[in-house]
Amino acid sequence: MEKKELLDLIIIGGGPAGLTAGMYASRSKMNVLMLEKMMPGGNVSITAEVENYPGTPNITGPDLVDLMEKQAREFGLEIKSEEVLNIEPGAGTEGHHVKTDTNEYYAKSVLVVSGSSPRKIGCVGESEHLGRGVSYCATCDGAFFREKEIAVVGGGDSAVEEALYLTKFASKVTIIHRRDKLRATKVIQDKAFKHPKIDFIWDTVVEGIESEKMIVDNLKLKNVKTNEITNLKVQGIFVFVGYIPATSFVPGIVDKDQAGFIKTDMEMRTNLPGIFAAGDIIVKKQRQIITACGDAATAIKSIEFYNEWFYEDEQYI
Ligand SMILES: Cc1cc2nc3c(=O)[nH]c(=O)nc-3n(C[C@H](O)[C@H](O)[C@H](O)COP(=O)(O)OP(=O)(O)OC[C@H]3O[C@@H](n4cnc5c(N)ncnc54)[C@H](O)[C@@H]3O)c2cc1C
Repeated sequence: MEKKELLDLIIIGGGPAGLTAGMYASRSKMNVLMLEKMMPGGNVSITAEVENYPGTPNITGPDLVDLMEKQAREFGLEIKSEEVLNIEPGAGTEGHHVKTDTNEYYAKSVLVVSGSSPRKIGCVGESEHLGRGVSYCATCDGAFFREKEIAVVGGGDSAVEEALYLTKFASKVTIIHRRDKLRATKVIQDKAFKHPKIDFIWDTVVEGIESEKMIVDNLKLKNVKTNEITNLKVQGIFVFVGYIPATSFVPGIVDKDQAGFIKTDMEMRTNLPGIFAAGDIIVKKQRQIITACGDAATAIKSIEFYNEWFYEDEQYI
């Protein structure tokens, strides 16, 4: 059988982390390939406006990632439109074996930057109003809701923390939770209970997100104990009911946390030699464009070091 080319690096995912890694790796003259199952850009492609990426004020998400892709390609990054289905670890021998829907590749190192997607409520009107009053990111979109009344869905740490953050902008924040008590850490709960701008609606789920002119103006709510349906007039709804990491193709022996996010050290190494991860897919607190790009830059330095010094080291086989 013909021996396959051994690449220095395969990058799985073409969001901000992948594109940054691609730029750094190509600029370092690594033999690198990026595999992206859709168009490059990741979650930023569905972000109407990005206000918090330094040096690019008033830029749309698609424009920002177009610039990132262009910059990476200028250094020679090759991007293939393929979905990765499986990685078979093979450090120190023929390399890690990456299988996609149409092809297979071998590389000394693999960088997993496949991101995660916010878990949706799954109610009527949710996807139609994305970017029109429905948001999954307070840091990203909070400033668009100055002096507006909004709702936050969820009862964990991130829902309550984000609700507190949103009080900087909104005139009123109503937390809607399906249970009769919060799961969030006690100290965060106390802050929320004392906050003059925060109200709670308990034992309740959102059944529908409605509007007259395609900008959210009403939520249809259902009390899960009484089945009573009520309406809540708001101009925005922020959903924090968890994230779903894209790790179906990652070997089971790679360490993950309970929610399925990949554990790395500060150099973006996983527990498997030659398999690295960065961006939204890893266990961390702040999932943002700038942190994804920062992780990716760190990962490339770490990968260069591993490929140069450790790839053929017996102890890693
Ligand atoms: C609606 C929304 C608005 C946001 N707004 C902002 C903002 O204003 N500012 C900010 O800083 N952050 C914002 N964020 C967060 C930001 O988008 C993420 O932190 C960032 O995109 C993470 O980058 P990433 O490259 O790690 O992952 P992603 O952007 O999720 O990219 C992962 C990529 O991997 C690909 N992929 C997944 N599985 C496979 C596979 N099996 N094979 C091949 N490819 C695969 C996906 O198609 C995707 O392109 C927002 C997020 C959302 C959801």
